[in-house]
Amino acid sequence: MHIHNFSKENSILNTFISEIRDVNIQKDRMRFRRNIERIGEVLGYEMSKALNYKPKKITTPLGIHNTSVFNDDIVLCSILRAGVPLHNGLLNYFDTAENAFISAYRHHKDTPEIFEIIVEYLACPDLSNKTLILADPMLATGQSMLATFKALKPFGRPKAIHLVSVIGAQKGLDFVTNEFPEDTHLWIATVDETLNNKGYIVPGLGDAGDLSFGEKLQK
Ligand code: URA
Repeated sequence: MHIHNFSKENSILNTFISEIRDVNIQKDRMRFRRNIERIGEVLGYEMSKALNYKPKKITTPLGIHNTSVFNDDIVLCSILRAGVPLHNGLLNYFDTAENAFISAYRHHKDTPEIFEIIVEYLACPDLSNKTLILADPMLATGQSMLATFKALKPFGRPKAIHLVSVIGAQKGLDFVTNEFPEDTHLWIATVDETLNNKGYIVPGLGDAGDLSFGEKLQK
């Protein structure tokens, strides 16, 4: 796993992350969603540096300009519902990408610590030889990311895999490092130390889906 953790650098990303963590600012749902979207834009820009490029001649009104543009067919896959603002941010930059959506949620058994990931809805194009971006804002245990990856297997073998997350826990990073192919890239804005007994990242930000879209009744 190639891990690109941007918390080690000073940049405007830190401002966006501070705002989604802040217990007062995060109450503004529109700002929360927009900040996640902006983080998706920044991580998408960084990720674009690892794509494959081909030369391109551009005809301007005054002449010819030689440049390079990326040459990969991108499929952007997000997990409903918390993934939607991150998905939108990435799609703002990879505007020609194909898109896949999957629903995955935690089904708690007897205790809050023990849960399985249930995948229900899935819409996906052919992934063969494409560049797959899996977007999940909170990389807590890494289990949703893996459940998604497994559910996508029947749709073809991508030539490259990029995971994009906003906040991760070290446990989740270790998990995806073990479970995903070695040449997978992880683009992550910041990494926290721990998970609580409900599998939430600490200090994290709380429930990204609820903060984006309002509290759900399901636990
Ligand atoms: N999902 C969230 O929304 N928050 C976490 O901390 C972990 C998973």
